Amino acid sequence: MKVAIITGGAKGIGKAIGLKLASLNIDIALWDIIDEGDESAREVSSTHKVTARFYKVDVSNYNEVVDAVKKVLDDFKKIHIIVNNAGITRDGLLLRMKPEEWHSVLNVNLTGCFNCTKAVLKTMIAQRWGRIINISSVVGITGNPGQSNYAASKAGIIAFTKSVAKEVAKRNITANTIAPGFIETDMTLSLPDEVKEAYQKQIPVQRMGKPIDIANIAAFLVSEYASYITGQVINVDGGLVM
Ligand code: NAP
Repeated sequence: MKVAIITGGAKGIGKAIGLKLASLNIDIALWDIIDEGDESAREVSSTHKVTARFYKVDVSNYNEVVDAVKKVLDDFKKIHIIVNNAGITRDGLLLRMKPEEWHSVLNVNLTGCFNCTKAVLKTMIAQRWGRIINISSVVGITGNPGQSNYAASKAGIIAFTKSVAKEVAKRNITANTIAPGFIETDMTLSLPDEVKEAYQKQIPVQRMGKPIDIANIAAFLVSEYASYITGQVINVDGGLVM
């Protein structure tokens, strides 16, 4: 039985990935800073016949991450998959962006990805098997006005993933990035309707994506079908960025 950690796993894309990987008979450790993670873990384990547990972890805090990895190893003994999905936005034009808005986004999105990947890597190397999936965004490729902090963090994830992929490929560990387009979650719910409609018109398939659209690619990347794919960025965006 394989074991996956999914950060930001209490809701949205992370929860969908948890449910999808559980359907493949993978045990699930959901990490999040919000308390709803307990309920999400119960839903994962009651929907599929796997063990799912919730751990309250702030991915931007390295010591918390290291402690949480120890707890997961105590509970599950192994860690095969890490999905670095926790992310936040603090949008604003650069002229008005406060340094704390820059730092908080970089700390959660990019440093969080570093913290969690580093903390599980030794275990994956010892097992000689691992799958690292980092959730970036198409704006990490294109840039986006009002999101210089977020786009920079997501571009950083792409370069981080490629570097890690090169370091660990010979250990039977792959590292890939998924770059979602516009996906229906709490993160996009708060956008004004006219902004959502404008985005939707730019998407060739003419709809926003659903969390399961991302979860399906995560399922592929952890499977043996993807064992020869590493260091790649897979856009899941209805054709928005080509
Ligand atoms: P979401 O619904 O807001 O879920 C993200 C989860 O991560 C939330 O529960 C959030 O808690 C949690 N989180 C925030 N900071 C954390 C921290 N320091 N440690 C641990 N957990 C933390 O977002 P989503 O839409 O599912 O997004 C998931 C990932 O996909 C993110 O990396 C996002 O950037 C990326 N993405 C999303 C879209 C989209 O259109 N939705 C597009 C491209 C990329 P809070 O609610 O308290 O913040």
